[in-house]
Amino acid sequence: AYRQRLLVVANRLPVSAVRKAEDCWQLEISAGGLVSALLGVKEFEAKWIGWAGVNVPDEIGQRSLTKALDEKRCIPVFLDEEIVHQYYNGYCNNILWPLFHYIGLPQEDRLATTRSFQSQFDAYKKANQMFADVVNSHYEEGDVVWCHDYHLMYLPECLKKYNSKMKVGWFLHTPFPSSEIHRTLPSRSELLRSVLAADLVGACTRILGLEGTPEGVEDQGKLTRVAAFPIGIDADRFIRALELPKVQELIKELKERFDGRKVMLGVDRLDMIKGIPQKILAFEKFLEENQIGMIKWSWYKLPSQQGQTFLSVCSSINDQKLTSQVHEIVGRINGRFGTLTTVPIHHLDRSLDFPALCALYAVTDVALVTSLRDGMNLVSYEFVACQASKKGVLILSEFAGAAQSLGAGAILVNPWNITEVASSIGQALNMPTVERVKRHQHNFMHVTTHTAQDWAETFVSELNDTVVEAQLRM
Ligand code: UDP
Repeated sequence: AYRQRLLVVANRLPVSAVRKAEDCWQLEISAGGLVSALLGVKEFEAKWIGWAGVNVPDEIGQRSLTKALDEKRCIPVFLDEEIVHQYYNGYCNNILWPLFHYIGLPQEDRLATTRSFQSQFDAYKKANQMFADVVNSHYEEGDVVWCHDYHLMYLPECLKKYNSKMKVGWFLHTPFPSSEIHRTLPSRSELLRSVLAADLVGACTRILGLEGTPEGVEDQGKLTRVAAFPIGIDADRFIRALELPKVQELIKELKERFDGRKVMLGVDRLDMIKGIPQKILAFEKFLEENQIGMIKWSWYKLPSQQGQTFLSVCSSINDQKLTSQVHEIVGRINGRFGTLTTVPIHHLDRSLDFPALCALYAVTDVALVTSLRDGMNLVSYEFVACQASKKGVLILSEFAGAAQSLGAGAILVNPWNITEVASSIGQALNMPTVERVKRHQHNFMHVTTHTAQDWAETFVSELNDTVVEAQLRM
């Protein structure tokens, strides 16, 4: 049967490449949400276009990597170190990311980005043009081109300049700031105009900065359809994983390890937006209110048969300031509330592999998601998918996109209000079974019926329809 070709363009390819010899590469697929989402969509034949995450200055390397990636349906865009520095570290991560998440930078940092702004924006446009060149050289008539995220806002326009008939969709995985915030960006109009060159613009929740009709946004006579497409996870992948012997083994070990204690869990990329210090401070407040008496009398005893362990897993550590801040708070709390044989917080500065993550999700009683701002937050979905037997409680920030979908089943909190979060922890730990089951079922139903596959299918078919409708209007 005919399958429409889908060119998925994202900053990073879903593979990591390690060079073993001049013309030999070791590739590892990182099966994140987007990858399994698109693998699950049978109607399309997906190809990936993006940066492989390595600097390959020589031609032999570029040719051999291109060949190796081809087997994984991946097409590389080669960016040199200077471009990566200015486009990726600079414009994407230091300018767009904080702005889109409403993170106020200290004055001096803001001034520093102001000085380098123009050169970084130029590098951003140059990098986006390089992506466009690669897309254009692989494009065949009828293909759908799906551009992803804030790294590639300049791409739709570049593509439409090459070929105005190309079907181009752009999806934003982060929140979009209100117009009052967006307007402080020197390149504010250029970026939005370029995005509107796409036929369909989607976001996790909503795009606040754009005003328009329910149909979309009109710019110089051209209508761009703008809509929200809530992303999901490949829930079956998690449910199946729980049956694997390796995961079962880990679950057994963890259960023995934490026997008699309630397990609370936080899993985050170490990033300002995740509200990690806020989360730990709320846990401290909870301990203050609930444990003082107990600790005082039992510090010399064996680990108490009550109590709770908070596991805090923070991956991709590259923010030194935030890391030390978190370490300081964790150290203080463990010093205050620890006993000779146990501490209330186990904090890890590393990412976990898929089996370990699934096992942790499965043994958790209470998961804590305290994002100050988050496009969706897939960790909350993954937790729910792994809780079919335990039926634990999700405490979820109202500022995560997931609050729109899991709000009725979770306990929603304002992460800045640590008094509220602390009392929610108490509420979650003591929730009657009937209520827990009811809340879990609500969330589980949502997570298993609004999957990543549905999301991808909906976006692409909407894009196809939008193009047909636009042709009818002409
Ligand atoms: N993740 C992981 N190992 C870890 C921590 C997180 O593989 O140790 C994955 C997690 O399973 C999830 C993703 O990283 O799929 C995080 O997605 P989310 O939407 O929650 O946040 P983001 O990091 O994209 O802002």
